[in-house]
Amino acid sequence: MKIDIPLSCPKCGGRMYSIGYEATLKILRPRIWHVCKQCEFSRDVEDFKRTICCA
Ligand SMILES: [Zn+2]
Repeated sequence: MKIDIPLSCPKCGGRMYSIGYEATLKILRPRIWHVCKQCEFSRDVEDFKRTICCA
């Protein structure tokens, strides 16, 4: 599942989308990443949120 997001890549300024992986086991939470369309940059959304709240 890919969803375009209104954020630009911090590395190249390109467009990004978010991609989600369903957890196959119920003890695991689904994980979501932000991925750049132009370069290989990707980040874990949970880590990204932590970075924002602690900045
Ligand atoms: Zn990029």
